Amino acid sequence: RPKVMRVDAKDMGADLQQVLITKEEIDAKLAELAAKIDAEYAGKDLLIVGVLKGAVMVMADLARALSTPVTMDWMAVSSYGAGTQSSGVVRILKDLDTDIKGRHVLIVEDIIDSGLTLSWLINNLGSREPASLKVCTLLRKPDAAKVAIDVEWVGFDIPNEFVVGYGLDYAEKYRNLPFVGTLAPHVYGG
Ligand code: 5GP
Ligand code: MG
Ligand code: MG
Repeated sequence: RPKVMRVDAKDMGADLQQVLITKEEIDAKLAELAAKIDAEYAGKDLLIVGVLKGAVMVMADLARALSTPVTMDWMAVSSYGAGTQSSGVVRILKDLDTDIKGRHVLIVEDIIDSGLTLSWLINNLGSREPASLKVCTLLRKPDAAKVAIDVEWVGFDIPNEFVVGYGLDYAEKYRNLPFVGTLAPHVYGG
């Protein structure tokens, strides 16, 4: 389990409550995942697909941890729904530049919560006839278990709390924090 520690005010002001996963823990986990992904795709031509914007940090660090040569592409999707709840109705804001027919594709995600966005994405990309389609996510929340999706590689299973940092935002802020942490309740009106 990730260790929980109190964070220095100088690192993030009073907005953050605690660090859930440190930069060192993320680095170690990505190295571990990269070794498994290298083994899976040895001798194959791999395309990794990042889902903007949250997956930017994981894509950048995972890609550099891999020995397998990869090409990278990006998708941006928006999930309709009120507030912080995902509805499963998804709109493509930016599609892939790549034709993935016959390619080995790995979707790289920051976090899976309800899993609705991902399950839509798997259907959408799956219909383009890739040679294979697998998923790697840095974080997964408990609700993801309610959806029948196969996630090959998971970094950390985390509690059902709203987290920010390492690509994840609250109102577009905190994406550049090098660690994953929870917000102080006063930030979101708690
Ligand atoms: P899902 O469709 O799995 O419910 O939602 C996936 C998306 O919701 C993620 O890619 C992310 O943008 C957002 N999300 C879900 N949980 C969190 C969280 O704890 N913190 C942040 N910042 N975004 C989250
Ligand atoms: Mg995401
Ligand atoms: Mg967001």
